Amino acid sequence: MAKIEDLGEVISTDVLIVGGGISGLVAAVKAKEESSKVEVLLVDKQTIGWSGKAPKGGGFTLVLTEGEDADDFVEYHVRNIGYYLNDQELLYSWVTQMYAAVEQLSAWGVRVPKNADGKLNTMKCPLFDPRFKYKWSIAGIDLDVLFPLRARARKTGVKTLNKIQVVELLKQDDRIVGTVGFNLIDGRFYIIKAKATILANGSCNYKAKRMWHSGCGDGIGAAYRAGAEIRNAEFGNFFDVHRKDNDGPAFDYTALYNALGENISLRYIPVPRSDIPSELVLGMEKEVKEGRGPIYFDPSAVPDLFKPLSDWPRPNFHNFFGRTISKELKYGAPPSARVEVSVALNAELSPIRVDHEMKTSLAGLWAIGDTSQMGSAIVGAVYSPPAMIRGIGLGLATRSGMWGGSSAARFASQASAPKVSEGEVKRLKEVIFAPMGRTKGFSAEETIYGIQDVMCRVQYNLRRSKERLEEGLSKIEKVQQRLPELWAKDGHGLGKCHEARNIAVCGEMTLRAALTRTESRGTHFREDYPNRDDKNWLKWTIIREKSGKMVVSTEPVPIEKYKFKP
Ligand SMILES: Cc1cc2nc3c(=O)[nH]c(=O)nc-3n(C[C@H](O)[C@H](O)[C@H](O)COP(=O)(O)OP(=O)(O)OC[C@H]3O[C@@H](n4cnc5c(N)ncnc54)[C@H](O)[C@@H]3O)c2cc1C
Repeated sequence: MAKIEDLGEVISTDVLIVGGGISGLVAAVKAKEESSKVEVLLVDKQTIGWSGKAPKGGGFTLVLTEGEDADDFVEYHVRNIGYYLNDQELLYSWVTQMYAAVEQLSAWGVRVPKNADGKLNTMKCPLFDPRFKYKWSIAGIDLDVLFPLRARARKTGVKTLNKIQVVELLKQDDRIVGTVGFNLIDGRFYIIKAKATILANGSCNYKAKRMWHSGCGDGIGAAYRAGAEIRNAEFGNFFDVHRKDNDGPAFDYTALYNALGENISLRYIPVPRSDIPSELVLGMEKEVKEGRGPIYFDPSAVPDLFKPLSDWPRPNFHNFFGRTISKELKYGAPPSARVEVSVALNAELSPIRVDHEMKTSLAGLWAIGDTSQMGSAIVGAVYSPPAMIRGIGLGLATRSGMWGGSSAARFASQASAPKVSEGEVKRLKEVIFAPMGRTKGFSAEETIYGIQDVMCRVQYNLRRSKERLEEGLSKIEKVQQRLPELWAKDGHGLGKCHEARNIAVCGEMTLRAALTRTESRGTHFREDYPNRDDKNWLKWTIIREKSGKMVVSTEPVPIEKYKFKP
C-alpha cells in the first residue's frame, strides 16, 4: 500500500476554506477572530484577491437603517418573492445583522462609502421599476473589496494557496476530513487534511456569461458526491434581460418594446416588482414566438435609474465603470436609442443545504456564500443571488462567511485529528487524473455546450412541463454517459474537465427537482401545473445521492413556527 506522502503533497490544517472570494475571506478572518490558535488555510483555483464574483461587478449590499422595519422586509420577501418557502427565522437574523456586518467589513479595512459623522452613506436602490417604492437601503461595496480582506486574513495568520483546484471531499466514516485536488500549473496532486472544511467556492452558472464564469458548481458537485443534502435546486434558473450591445442587464424593465413599438413590460407586469420577474421573461418569449420580436429596450423612454448609483460618491466605483464604458465606446456597437435585448441565463444555482450556522448535513462540512444561498432556504422559491432584490448576494456571502467561519473554528478547536484512508486517496487520485490518460475522446467544451444547450433554454429551464423536463434530462444523461471519455492534455484542461462534470451534475439537479415540484411558485413555472398549490407544496425539495443515483424527496416547510403564513 502506498503511503499518502507518496501520492502527493500532504497538508494538515484545522480549518480549510475552499474558495477565496468574499465569503471565503470573511470566513477566514472570522475563524481567526473566534480562536487565534486555530490554523486556517484558504485555497483557491484562481488568485485570491482577484477571483470570484465580487471584483467583477456591483456592488452594493442591502442593509436596514434606522426606521426601516425588519418585519416589513421579511413579510415582503416571504409573500412576494420566497412564497412561503423561506426559512423566515434565518431571513430575519440576516437582515437585522447586515448593517453591523458592513461596519465590520469597514473595521477590517474595506472602503465603504461613509458620511462625515462616520456612519454608512446609504441610499435606496431605485433599479428596475420606477413605480416600485423601494423601502430598504443599500450600502456600497466596491470592486476592490477583496484586497483589504486578503491583507487582514494574512495579518491574522491565515495561510493562502492559489491555483489549487479542489475536486473531492475526503471522508472518515460520515465526517468530512478535508479535500483532494491538484495544482493547475504544475499538475501536482494535493491532499489537504482538515478538522473542519468550509465550501466557499460559489454557485453554478454553467459558464453561460463571462462575468459569472467562476461559478461552475465545483463545491456543489463535491458536496453532493460526498452525500450532502441539496435543497430547492429547481429555483436555480435566473434569466436576466440582457442588452445585446454591452453584455450587461437592462436596469429598467418598464421600457421594453416589441418590434411593433408596443410596450410589453406593462402587459406582463401590471404590478411593480422589486426585480425582473419570470412573467416578463416568459412574455418576451411569447412576443418573439408570435412574430413580434425582436425586443428592444428604450432608455430614452424612462428616467436613468442607474444615475443615482453612478452619482454616489464611492472610492472605486467610477474607476471600474469608467473603464468599462470607455471600452464599450471603443469596441462596442454604435450607441443607439433602441437597444436590442434578449433573455440570458445567469442561473445562480446555490443549493447546498445548511442550517443557521452554515453547517451542511455532513459532520465537519460547512457551505457559505453562493454555494448555499438557496440551500439555506433563506430566499425561498427563487434563485440566489440576487433573490429578486439585488444586493442580497454580497450581503449573504458576508454574513454567512461570519456565521460559518466562527462555527467551523469552534468545531475545529474541539475536534480530533482527521484520519485519512490511503486507499481512498489513491482511488480519488486515479479518478481525478483519468482524463490526462487519454489523448482523445469527449472534450470539456463539448460537455459544457451540451449542458448549456438544455439549461440556457427557456423551454427547459423556465417554461417547464413534464414532457420537456424529461426531454432535457435525457439530453443531460446523454452528455453524462460520455463523461468517462473526457480527456485533457494539461492541468488547465483537467480543471475544465472537472468543471464540466460539476456543471452536468448541477443541470441534472435543477431539472430533477423541477420535475418533482408539480406546481408553479416563484421562478419555477410549470405549464402543466400553472398554479401555486399551498395544500400540497409548502415543501422543500431535497436531493441526495444514493448508490450513484440522484434521488429527490420532499420535506414540509415548518410554516407553523413562522410568523408569516399564506
Ligand atoms: C457582474 C456581477 C455583479 C454583481 N453585483 C452584485 C451587487 O451589486 N450586489 C450584490 O449583493 N451581489 C452582486 N453580485 C453577486 C456577488 O458578487 C456574489 O454573490 C458574491 O461575490 C459571492 O461570493 P462568494 O465568495 O460566495 O463566491 P465567489 O465570488 O463565486 O467566489 C468563489 C471562489 O471559489 C473559487 N473556486 C471555485 N471553484 C473552486 C475549486 N474547485 N477549488 C478552489 N477554488 C475554487 C473561485 O475561484 C472563487 O474565487 C454580482 C455578481 C456578478 C457576477
